[in-house]
Amino acid sequence: MSNILQFKKPSLKKKAKEKTLCSNGFHKWEVVTENQFDTRSGKLVTAYYCPRCGKKKTKAH
Ligand SMILES: [Zn+2]
Repeated sequence: MSNILQFKKPSLKKKAKEKTLCSNGFHKWEVVTENQFDTRSGKLVTAYYCPRCGKKKTKAH
């Protein structure tokens, strides 16, 4: 039992730290679609997604 508790504690701490990073604007951006043509802006855009908090963003080129 004690082994499980010891294993669980650091991961919970890590999760809280990652959430803090997100709330401070330091997201873990991962590319979803690269150089996709956006018809609304008429530009190539890359879509990003943060798996930690679920936020999305697009960047025009
Ligand atoms: Zn995030």
